[in-house]
Amino acid sequence: MIARMARDYEICKLLYFNVAWMKNNGLRHTREVSMCKQYAADAAFNAANDAVEIHGAYGYSAEYPVERYLRNSRAPIIYEGTREVHTILQAEYALGYREDRPMKKSLPKYEPD
Ligand SMILES: Cc1cc2nc3c(=O)[nH]c(=O)nc-3n(C[C@H](O)[C@H](O)[C@H](O)COP(=O)(O)OP(=O)(O)OC[C@H]3O[C@@H](n4cnc5c(N)ncnc54)[C@H](O)[C@@H]3O)c2cc1C
Repeated sequence: MIARMARDYEICKLLYFNVAWMKNNGLRHTREVSMCKQYAADAAFNAANDAVEIHGAYGYSAEYPVERYLRNSRAPIIYEGTREVHTILQAEYALGYREDRPMKKSLPKYEPD
């Protein structure tokens, strides 16, 4: 369980940095940000879920923050596009059924001072 938490943490960082890099370079990142959100939301929930088990009975009690982490990590699976909707999007991208429409305006590239 700990190994999965550590692995998912690294995967999420890479997905997040990829999106950040694309955004900073003014590239469209609709597919990538959807994948990142979907993966990170699941990873956070899995980590909190396993943490409840690792902490034994304390994980289930309100005395420790672990149960709150479980509750809090459930919400991102629902908001900003549910897991199911992001799953459909990702499957459509992967199968070539979905293509992003051209943007009306291009995103500005980040230019540090
Ligand atoms: C803590 C929290 C905060 C929120 N904050 C906001 C907010 O700030 N702004 C906002 O607008 N909304 C917010 N929401 C609402 C959230 O975005 C919606 O609950 C979510 O988009 C689901 O839409 P819905 O309620 O219309 O249900 P539905 O669209 O009916 O979805 C219900 C379930 O059916 C699934 N589903 C729907 N269509 C499909 C499909 N084609 N295939 C498979 N499964 C499908 C969904 O994934 C979901 O599990 C929040 C929700 C929570 C829990």
